[in-house]
Amino acid sequence: MAERGGRRPGGLGDKIFTANQTSGTGTKLKPKMGNGQGIAPPASKVTDFFSQGQGKRHRNLGNAIIGALREAHDDGRDCKVVTSQQLDHSWDQTDSSTNFKILEDGVTAQRLEGKGSTDAVRSKKAYQSGCHVFQIYWPKDEWGSHASIGCGTTEVPLTSPGYSVLIGSTVDSWGWNVCEKKLYHGGKECGTYPAGRWQLGDIFYMILNLQTGNLSFRTKGNKDLGIAFNNLPKGDTALCVMASATSGNCRIRMKYIGSEDILQMRSSQRKDTRSLQEPMQQTYYTFHSRCGKNTEVLFGGKMARRKEAEDEPDNGVVLTSQSLEDGEPFQVRLNSKVSRWRGSLEIGVTTTPADLLDFPSSMTDRTIGITYMWCGDVVYMNGDKILDLDRDLDNITVGDCIGLMVDGDKLYFYHNGCRLPQEVSGVPNVVYGVVDVYGDAECVTLVGTDRSLSRLSTIPGRKEIVHLSTPLSTMMAMRSTIDTLKNTEIESVTIATEIEITILKPYYASDGDRDLRMAYGDHLADLGAAQEFAKLLRKLSEGALSEGTNWQLEQTVRLACWNYSNVSVKVAVQIGMAGLVSIFLEDLDKYGIPKTKNEKQRFVVLSALNILHNCAKASENRQIYRDHQALGRISKYLKSDDREYVMVAALTLSYISEDDKLDLVEMDTRATKQILTVLKKGLESPDLYGRVDESGYSVLELTQGLSCLALNQTNKANLWECGALSLMMKTITKGGFMEKEHAADVVWRLAQHSDSVRTKIRNNTAAMETLTELMQCHSVPVQQAAERALLCIHQVMRQQHIGMPEKKNDALLTCDYRSLCKRFMDSLDLQAEFFNSKYDMCYCNSCHVTRADSLYYTRGEPAMVYGLPIGWCRFGLHIHKSRANALKVFQKWHVAYHGTTVGAIKNIIETGNLLLPGDVAYGGITLREGKGHFNDDWKPKGFDTKNVFLSPSIRYAGIECYARPKKFKDAQSGQKYTASVALQVCIRPNSYKVGKDTVGASQPFDPRIDNQNIEWFTKERGSIILYGLLVKLC
Ligand SMILES: [Zn+2]
Repeated sequence: MAERGGRRPGGLGDKIFTANQTSGTGTKLKPKMGNGQGIAPPASKVTDFFSQGQGKRHRNLGNAIIGALREAHDDGRDCKVVTSQQLDHSWDQTDSSTNFKILEDGVTAQRLEGKGSTDAVRSKKAYQSGCHVFQIYWPKDEWGSHASIGCGTTEVPLTSPGYSVLIGSTVDSWGWNVCEKKLYHGGKECGTYPAGRWQLGDIFYMILNLQTGNLSFRTKGNKDLGIAFNNLPKGDTALCVMASATSGNCRIRMKYIGSEDILQMRSSQRKDTRSLQEPMQQTYYTFHSRCGKNTEVLFGGKMARRKEAEDEPDNGVVLTSQSLEDGEPFQVRLNSKVSRWRGSLEIGVTTTPADLLDFPSSMTDRTIGITYMWCGDVVYMNGDKILDLDRDLDNITVGDCIGLMVDGDKLYFYHNGCRLPQEVSGVPNVVYGVVDVYGDAECVTLVGTDRSLSRLSTIPGRKEIVHLSTPLSTMMAMRSTIDTLKNTEIESVTIATEIEITILKPYYASDGDRDLRMAYGDHLADLGAAQEFAKLLRKLSEGALSEGTNWQLEQTVRLACWNYSNVSVKVAVQIGMAGLVSIFLEDLDKYGIPKTKNEKQRFVVLSALNILHNCAKASENRQIYRDHQALGRISKYLKSDDREYVMVAALTLSYISEDDKLDLVEMDTRATKQILTVLKKGLESPDLYGRVDESGYSVLELTQGLSCLALNQTNKANLWECGALSLMMKTITKGGFMEKEHAADVVWRLAQHSDSVRTKIRNNTAAMETLTELMQCHSVPVQQAAERALLCIHQVMRQQHIGMPEKKNDALLTCDYRSLCKRFMDSLDLQAEFFNSKYDMCYCNSCHVTRADSLYYTRGEPAMVYGLPIGWCRFGLHIHKSRANALKVFQKWHVAYHGTTVGAIKNIIETGNLLLPGDVAYGGITLREGKGHFNDDWKPKGFDTKNVFLSPSIRYAGIECYARPKKFKDAQSGQKYTASVALQVCIRPNSYKVGKDTVGASQPFDPRIDNQNIEWFTKERGSIILYGLLVKLC
């Protein structure tokens, strides 16, 4: 088709195609073919600015992004910013039906009222190549019956009497009737669009891709609705955007966004479920697009996000494009966190603008210009500590706003809109805002000063926000509820509903998404929810069981504790700290074993038992349970007639009983049967989760519980009688590594019962095959467990050995593994004077099985669990006896492990101290500590960033990045081995901090020690006493 059109006299200079000047008169126009009326313009001009010079294009594109995305999230009611580009690419008053008028903003076309016709608008630009994105705002309630949008040439008529679909009525137009969801072209309906049940909102995007010849649409949330037309003419025909309507007063706003890249960019940041969408506020500042290499700046500079935040803690520095204005706060809100890393968001100012800054991995590393950074609870100036603040940024949580304001030479600090009392003076004239999206911080948004400085709890419509249920809005609503609890007198009706809507509903709504549930739980713990729940329950404790609203509140709070303690260790720990354990234990005392069928009483007891069960899993709570004599108070419930009570009580006891007293927890046959019944159900369900009445238990927790409960001789007998063996075999077949390990351990315990049981297992060919096969499992702990079981099954008449206390070293003398480890140790050239063979102990499977020890022990005050170093051999070290006795090291201190390199051992043994990171290369970048992320070459004066890392689990301390393996050739046998070393130590309670793993494991390392608590770190070298050198060869 020949192009037609021509420069409109006196029109906009870059208007390429003019409409037929006679159109829009109300008469039906026939499409006109090109007739030489105008001169076809050079193609390069047709395709607008994208065909222009590279530099120009960039600038234009940049403007388009900022302009368009600043608006991308507004509600469309209000059109604040229109760029000149958008004006150029919007509707053409002179090329539209006269029944449309273009409003003052220049981008909105409004149809006049009361015309019995169908009328169309056409864009100023006609496009011949490239890909073009338009944001369309067309309120749904103004669609009428024939709202249609698409593209067409200037030949397409602009008006038609009666109601019809204009766009698509001709061979040179392609239209989508959004009301009917039908596509039209050449006067024919050609399909339904979009496929599926997508509802279009008031705002959507149209993508005109003339490279591929496709017309497609996306929702406001950037959901791709697919290709509507794939047959647009490429190259020789210029197409305008068109819309037609029949509805009076309807408004169609069109804003040109730019190329499709912009939408791609927006969609990429939605991959993460925790990335957040919400209206952007107008703020004075924007982030500069030059930023740290692991960072992306989004939404026209309003948002900054650290990419792959789980993998790298740093390279998240962003600066403002603008220098800070006096009195104009620079403020960001933390949108999301990752559940790794220590240290968090940092904020500050610097004299170096973004385009001159060589972006460092963290802002505290930089050395040019003048930089003030608020890190943790300290302000640094070029790395020197200059001020303590009474807010610690390492404790902020999702939804918190932190900010700075310069005024003259003063710098002020804000947290959630409150100015801190401290200030800095002497700040240079021109500074830029800096945010270091560091550590557990993942994403921040620049926020304006209006709303964010007021209390969040005053935002109306919270219920609707939750209904929208983006993770951020949900977390904000939770925050608002907890704030309300903290700050106001409680009216139980309102607050019960509030908790239900903002805290419980999101839990139920995220069914199947355990990570999201955990994130919600962790967030609630960060907010201090458990303390508030404890306050509420105390207030309710009088007359709690009365009718009416108090009961609703009681129920809601208990359900919140019950559910969230199940998914978040942080919540479980906080419930312990908040004193809730004693409240729930009191419930147990108060109601005893409910005999009546009182539903409320039953709920109170059952919720108490279940929460106690969940919280017992957190090892930090061990001492709290001990202090409250929880063992005895829960044990009563083993005698209940209610199967569910018995079951949850038994499992709780399996956690809290000290490992050397576990054999005191004795169940009767009914309880044993109940647990096995639920386990059977769990094994039959695809998610390995057994449900009973109100509660559910995973196969994992059931088998773990059984592996502990099977220490008791009566339980062993009952389990054997009730057919536990076959269920364990089923667990081994169906379960994951942890389940397999526990199941093999249960078999090991059963085999300890008697010769007759061992004989029976030996004669069970299927079971023996399963166990033997398990020795080939990829997981070393599973292999070890299988070997333990098999070793024990093959033991004959060793009854007198089993169950006896550690007997001095008969076994050691005959253990080949121990001899091998000794030969390796001798190769290290360590002086014999350091060692005390009295404490030598081989933890190889055969020595361990012979001793019939537990796998875990609880030591110290407060009580803390540690795991035996199975698979390792310990060589005792001399300790300072009188010092150890005076400090009661073996009674009061905790036991932990420290993995290290073979090369470092000599130094450690000789100094008697563990080496600090930096002394020894310590496992790579993941081990950069604390809030500092400083390094040896550069660190603030007097700032000790060095920590010693330990773990109560050898499975963690012994991983390769800590205990680096080294090749060892045994001279005696000529065999080659891989050797690892670690230290077993006593460490003073409260001298260390507890943290999550820093190697980024997605699976638990240790069944009894949660990844959240698996890493201990300290700077206090004097608080660690080395007492064993551990060696592992494989
Ligand atoms: Zn051994």
